[in-house]
Amino acid sequence: MLLYHHCWHTGNAIDLPLGKIVCVGRNYAAHARELNNPIPDEPLLFIKPATAAVAFEAPIKLPEKLGSVHFETELAILIDKPLTHATEAKVREAIAGYGLALDLTLRDVQSKLKEKGQPWERAKGFDGSCPLTPFVPAENFDDHDDITFSLDIDDERQQTGTTHDMLFPMIRLIAHMSESFTLLPGDVILTGTPEGVGPLASGQTLLLKLADELTVETTVV
Ligand code: ZN
Repeated sequence: MLLYHHCWHTGNAIDLPLGKIVCVGRNYAAHARELNNPIPDEPLLFIKPATAAVAFEAPIKLPEKLGSVHFETELAILIDKPLTHATEAKVREAIAGYGLALDLTLRDVQSKLKEKGQPWERAKGFDGSCPLTPFVPAENFDDHDDITFSLDIDDERQQTGTTHDMLFPMIRLIAHMSESFTLLPGDVILTGTPEGVGPLASGQTLLLKLADELTVETTVV
């Protein structure tokens, strides 16, 4: 059974309106290195608004005239209990499901913002910047420390990741997020991208796989 946010009106809906999407940057060492970024000593956090989310299966529409649009394939975690200054035990109880997301990033816009020392929201939080798959119930996964996922573009493997390689393991990461931002049922956590990011181009077919639990395809228009 897959869990969907109710706005996607499927038969298996759970009644959780999508909230905010709390994200971490540079959570995989090899990805930080590929963009010549330092390895952070504490998590680099940012938020996408709920209006960033779109169903992954719908064709991905590239924003126009804003430079390159990079894909970043990330494990997404659906939260179903409030978390404020949460212990790791409370975080474990609040994980309803796992899915996959693309953290779409206007890389040229982001580079300019970085140069000026400005926040990343224009590059990371625009409408449609978070294509999101359905969620698989957390209890379907035996070992939460070794959840694997991948992205294929036009039948070629582009990114692979496992939760095992995260610099900040997800339970500790979510507890840390809850120190700054109260997490509410329906909020989604994006856990950072492994290496292999790159630009999207119209006409591509994208295939996301989450362990043996979920395979979802879409196209770029
Ligand atoms: Zn990202």
